[in-house]
Amino acid sequence: MATKYVYMFTEGNAGMRNLLGGKGANLAEMTGLGLPVPQGFTITTEACTQYYEDGRQINDEIMEQIRVGIDRMEEITGKKFGDKENPLLVSVRSGARASMPGMMDTILNLGLNEEVTEILAAKSGNPRWAWDCYRRFIQMFSDVVMEVGKKYFEELIDQMKHSKGVTMDTELTAENLKELANQFKAEYKAKIGEDFPDDPKVQLVEAIKAVFRSWDNPRANVYRRDNDIPYSWGTAVNVQMMAFGNMGETSGTGVAFTRDPATGEKKLMGEFLLNAQGEDVVAGVRTPNPIAKLEEMMPEVYEQFVNICSILENHYRDMQDMEFTIEDRHLYMLQTRNGKRTAPAALKIACDLVDEGMIDEKQAVLMIDPRNLDTLLHPQFDSNALKRAIPVAKGLPASPGAACGQIVFTAEDAKAWKARGKKVVLVRLETSPEDIEGMKSAQGIITVRGGMTSHAAVVARGMGACCVSGVSEIQMDEANKKFTVGYREFKEGDWISADGSTGNIYMGSIPTVDATIAGEFGRIMGWADKYRRMKVRTNADTPTDAKRAHELGAEGIGLCRTEHMFFEKDRIEAFREMIVADTVEEREKALDKILPVQENDFEQLYEALEGAPVTIRFLDPPLHEFVPTEEADIEKLASVQHKTTGAIHSIIDALHEFNPMMGHRGVRLAITYPEIARMQTKAVIRAAINVSKRHPDWSVKPEIMVPLVGDNKEFEFAKKTIVETADEEIRNAGVEMGYEVGTMIEIPRAALTADEIAKDADFFCFGTNDLTQMTYGFSRDDAGKFLAAYYNAKIFENDPFAKLDQNGVGKLMDMAIKLGKSVNPTLHCGICGEHGGDPSSIEFCDKLGLDYVSCSPFRVPIARLAAAQAAIKAEQE
Ligand code: ADP
Ligand code: MG
Ligand code: MG
Repeated sequence: MATKYVYMFTEGNAGMRNLLGGKGANLAEMTGLGLPVPQGFTITTEACTQYYEDGRQINDEIMEQIRVGIDRMEEITGKKFGDKENPLLVSVRSGARASMPGMMDTILNLGLNEEVTEILAAKSGNPRWAWDCYRRFIQMFSDVVMEVGKKYFEELIDQMKHSKGVTMDTELTAENLKELANQFKAEYKAKIGEDFPDDPKVQLVEAIKAVFRSWDNPRANVYRRDNDIPYSWGTAVNVQMMAFGNMGETSGTGVAFTRDPATGEKKLMGEFLLNAQGEDVVAGVRTPNPIAKLEEMMPEVYEQFVNICSILENHYRDMQDMEFTIEDRHLYMLQTRNGKRTAPAALKIACDLVDEGMIDEKQAVLMIDPRNLDTLLHPQFDSNALKRAIPVAKGLPASPGAACGQIVFTAEDAKAWKARGKKVVLVRLETSPEDIEGMKSAQGIITVRGGMTSHAAVVARGMGACCVSGVSEIQMDEANKKFTVGYREFKEGDWISADGSTGNIYMGSIPTVDATIAGEFGRIMGWADKYRRMKVRTNADTPTDAKRAHELGAEGIGLCRTEHMFFEKDRIEAFREMIVADTVEEREKALDKILPVQENDFEQLYEALEGAPVTIRFLDPPLHEFVPTEEADIEKLASVQHKTTGAIHSIIDALHEFNPMMGHRGVRLAITYPEIARMQTKAVIRAAINVSKRHPDWSVKPEIMVPLVGDNKEFEFAKKTIVETADEEIRNAGVEMGYEVGTMIEIPRAALTADEIAKDADFFCFGTNDLTQMTYGFSRDDAGKFLAAYYNAKIFENDPFAKLDQNGVGKLMDMAIKLGKSVNPTLHCGICGEHGGDPSSIEFCDKLGLDYVSCSPFRVPIARLAAAQAAIKAEQE
């Protein structure tokens, strides 16, 4: 059977959202409920996809179905396009599966031309209304279809108001509006070189094409990427008979919510304007009335509206966001959808609906967008202050939160200023591991370079600190401790504010308020924990982070990166000594200094987690990342090692690698320097033994993770060193203690040979940052340079480092799990890449059957919720 591309509102329902788009499906549903909806038809999202497949053409088959749709619409309404007695006017509205407010375009009053307008003017006895409709139509059509700038039309309106000595649009007379319409048409002809189309059917086809085209406009493309909406979905088009809110003082238009979208409070909220159309309410041209006013002005209409609101809320069992129009005391419903809301409102509404018996706990869990929770966990700007502020630059919203402080340019300054009780924002070209201390001292971090997964971004997210990365408008002059944005100069000590949720940078200080966790937050989290299958662990390197994560619900540490432990003051020197040592003995001597410090670190981690599992990854990065760069440090190192500075320099030079990412790192270090692995094993085991003694009721069972394995022999080699050392420690201590040795799967070869590795490994943890890099063969630090071109060319819709590539990387994961479990049924598997905190990636991990996801501390609640949603959806399927 031929594909059906056009559905009358009477033929659809809310379940057909994928095909009819959200707006179309709900217009059909409301029609089915017997509510007053101006009738019309929906052209499906499949027609949109087909339009793009046909090279941006509406093919004959679809065109024919549209023609039939028009005929049927004319029958239903008793009106006809271009008719002299009873002309049909319509709106042409876009509507995708997911709502994309303001992203695509709508045209009202289509079907008008000079002749039809005259007829309407005469028949209605309301020429002002008729000409108002016509001038609006020309304006919207030109703007949307022909992309003739809105601004020229606005200017013409302003000139007209000025010359007539009036301030409001509503004060313009029929004559004025008619004159405006003619000016608009002249403007159109001047810009386009053709007359404004008079034939309603030509107008309609052009408008439909324009809506299809608008799916691919730059605004919409960016919105989709930010909101995880695939390009392939397409948009539907709704053609609907007009209801006129601009017929005078007994007409009007408005919007309303069944509950407060800011707080969630259960009360009707809304605004309307008399004698107005379409977007007038939200456009801010006139100040709208609160909905309660409608009760005074038109009590019967108000009563009917309140009744419809409760019908809709009960029907959809969620807060509704509605558009309505009153045409001469007749109420029409033009849209309803589940309303967008703030995170606190989302929590409150979900809990209230459960208490009201409208939904169950699982539905409540499904209702909350996990990404929204982020905003609840960080300090926020005072929303009123923010509204008044104007951003001076924009970067990537790399880590949410609000930062406000005085500008400093180095990590040392950040620390020093903080010690003096100052609030600082650290502004750097980019950050490096050495900056961590300074980053911790700062309210927030701004970097000129780098993307969403740059060093600064990853570390900031881990710390729950605000970070805006990639602010390319900044012209940095680090040497003189200043930078410029456009003509503005910023010096050290100047106040600056950064919004990590939007990427906006503001001059001066904007007040912030502390994040509060409301009671509903706990309730929802409790339900989430009840229904999820996967465990949630955290990536934490310090006891502070571990503790915070544990408070936020982390059930263990999935990844502790030990390299950060080597950077701190009391150990970097010893570590450098070990790097430049000539003999094993010298190296061991240096490592002996680090052992007690690291042992203490691990003890604190076990304490923070109160006996929950802790996975410790052995040293991973290439050694040259640790060598000194300052001449003074080099001299110091030389004297301690009884070497010349020249000798130290040549050791450092020798550590240089052409491609450090694929260089001497990971398990390769444990093979070339087994003494490092031995020292780390001792520290892990001793710490675990000490903590078990202090807390006999906890079951401390260390998990040691070997990074970057590509061959099972590498793993066997490292494991042998670890097991020998660990067993000896345990024997010497005279205790019983279990421990596990596993590996990170982050090299494609490890996934391909997982059945060999799993024979010896107790667990796999997918390091999807490296796995993504190695699978695609590009570096995440450099991807920022070409990702934009990839988005434009529709090669990528998302950053594969933020959202897991399910088809490629995901396939490797699936293979590794299946191969691994086939030889080792007790093998447990997790993920500890950045993806472990991304909701859509978490859903995928649930499908793969992972035992846990691990993410940065502030993402733990998000992951708990996303894991619950994944489990509930899986059960429903
Ligand atoms: P958006 O998705 O941006 O909200 P809409 O398609 O909902 O765009 O329409 C924009 C405005 O035009 C809304 O205020 C809507 O209520 C109004 N509108 C759309 N169709 C009609 C119609 N048939 N009659 C009256 N007003 C309409
Ligand atoms: Mg709308
Ligand atoms: Mg790695």
